[in-house]
Amino acid sequence: MSSELPSTMRAGVLVAPRELEVREFNLPRPGPGQVLVRVRATALCTWEQRTFQGIQDIKTPFVGGHETSGVVAAVGEGVTSVKVDDRVTLGPVACDECYYCRRGFPSRCESYLGRFSLDGAWGPWGLADYKLVPARAAFRFAADLSFEEASLAEPISCVVHSVRAVQPELADDVVVIGAGPMGLLNLLVLKRRGARVIVCELDPARRQKAAELGADVVPDPDDGDFTAQVRGLTDGRGADAVVAAVGSAQVDALAFDMVGKTGKVVLFASAHPSPSLAVDHNRIHKDEIDVLGVESKSVQDFAIAVRLLSQRLIDVRPLIDRCVPLSELETAFELAIRPDTYRIVVTP
Ligand SMILES: [Zn+2]
Ligand SMILES: [Zn+2]
Repeated sequence: MSSELPSTMRAGVLVAPRELEVREFNLPRPGPGQVLVRVRATALCTWEQRTFQGIQDIKTPFVGGHETSGVVAAVGEGVTSVKVDDRVTLGPVACDECYYCRRGFPSRCESYLGRFSLDGAWGPWGLADYKLVPARAAFRFAADLSFEEASLAEPISCVVHSVRAVQPELADDVVVIGAGPMGLLNLLVLKRRGARVIVCELDPARRQKAAELGADVVPDPDDGDFTAQVRGLTDGRGADAVVAAVGSAQVDALAFDMVGKTGKVVLFASAHPSPSLAVDHNRIHKDEIDVLGVESKSVQDFAIAVRLLSQRLIDVRPLIDRCVPLSELETAFELAIRPDTYRIVVTP
């Protein structure tokens, strides 16, 4: 245990859409098997952005923040995997006991551990000075990696989950639709996996970013529709896989249009409201197309994400726009929802 812990901490509480308050809470102490982490960086995911904007209903008061890294401040009884002062990033903790965990699908765990309530405020609690987690949520990372970069292990782990599901072969043609932060992380991991990555995006600034991050082809919409261009690049066959990193009926239709026979379509992003899929039944049947849903990650995906970052196999620095202190959380959210930002990181 560490002795110089304060008695209180701050947390950014969402009390209603677009209404945030930085409140004081009593600092929890780690129980057996738990670790108290002093938060150093929490990136604002699209999920928190939706809760802030009221696009996604959420029970309030809510403390968001699930892309978090920090320093171990105190450990509970029996913890041996990490010690005080270790730099850690926080991964998923599947329960290991529910139906899906026991069937080998921990990304669908029915009772993820590590979310909690303090004084009635519930959530993943990364937007605070400290966060209490089960010890197995804490993953150490390389000494030369910044806390901001390490906080992105969580979104990268979701991308790893997708790429491991797609299993692209070397030189496969993989299209990523959408060059927001998740589309660009897909690009980085798919490049590492040896695919030829084609990024389809309407916004010219985001297209430019995709090109800078190593996209093999970034079609210009002025040169014809994306499907025709993708078919042109693949001798008319269409892509081996299409990752729809934007959730909309239009993007779904585009993905099925440009995927080739035996190809895979990944629905990577959620859609609000959720549209029905309007796909030619026989296209999927006769062309043997796989449709994959990807939402979350397993502990293995997370461990791979930490290695990708720690060994600098992918560089996420170009995706980090700004660090904003917790005291200016509202500014952080206003910046995060702007279309010209990628990731805003809150640094208590
Ligand atoms: Zn996230
Ligand atoms: Zn479970």
